[in-house]
Amino acid sequence: MKKLRIGHLYPKLLNIYGDGGNIITLKKRAEWRGIEAEIHEINSGDVWLGEHDIYFIGGGQDLQQIEVSKELQRHKVFLTAERDRGAVFLGICGGYQLMGHYYQPHDADKLMGISLLDAYTVAGNKRFIGNVTVKTEYEFAPTLVGFENHSGLTYLQGDTKHIGTMIVGNGNNGQDKTEGARYKNVFGTYMHGSFLPKNPKFADYLLELALGEKLTPLDDTIEDNAHNALINKAY
Ligand code: GLN
Repeated sequence: MKKLRIGHLYPKLLNIYGDGGNIITLKKRAEWRGIEAEIHEINSGDVWLGEHDIYFIGGGQDLQQIEVSKELQRHKVFLTAERDRGAVFLGICGGYQLMGHYYQPHDADKLMGISLLDAYTVAGNKRFIGNVTVKTEYEFAPTLVGFENHSGLTYLQGDTKHIGTMIVGNGNNGQDKTEGARYKNVFGTYMHGSFLPKNPKFADYLLELALGEKLTPLDDTIEDNAHNALINKAY
């Protein structure tokens, strides 16, 4: 049986607003196709378990990001090599911010990221909290929905491009109408909620990138109903 190796990075520190549901979605959508999914939780001080097909890192408050920022520096070289090998990464909010160069909070030292994305984040003066609808250029997922809760403002540079433009909500910084980021197979988004359960076609896209093959479609009636119920939902 084909096996999918998923590395869940720092779930004891970065895992808010249901972000752990993204792991469950990846696991179940693989298993529903007869693919075994192995989840490795990697927390502070753990010995790393080698290569993975997908890495996931959730969101969290500034305090938890301080510890994860320090931890991630120990694995920056390895994770950069994983990115360049084509591994898939998904970071949500605080985890997304640490996949960039740095996150500068209001009243703390700059938190260094691991530069998987050519992006940086600075603390804003207001908190963005509410529903999000994003328009994408993915024909298999023309809209993405979720929930945002962040004060960080993320700006993209170089070959790192946004994954969508705002229909409802603020996204990366509330200024340039962009949401999320992608470079190679590294994806970041501010969408909590969980993100993947109600964006099933995007979940499958990540699985197909990780497995290197097309997957048979599933009956996503329930997931699509959840997605459609949130499209254009007021902020
Ligand atoms: N602490 C970061 C911010 O406020 C990330 C928050 C989050 O992960 N929801 O921008």
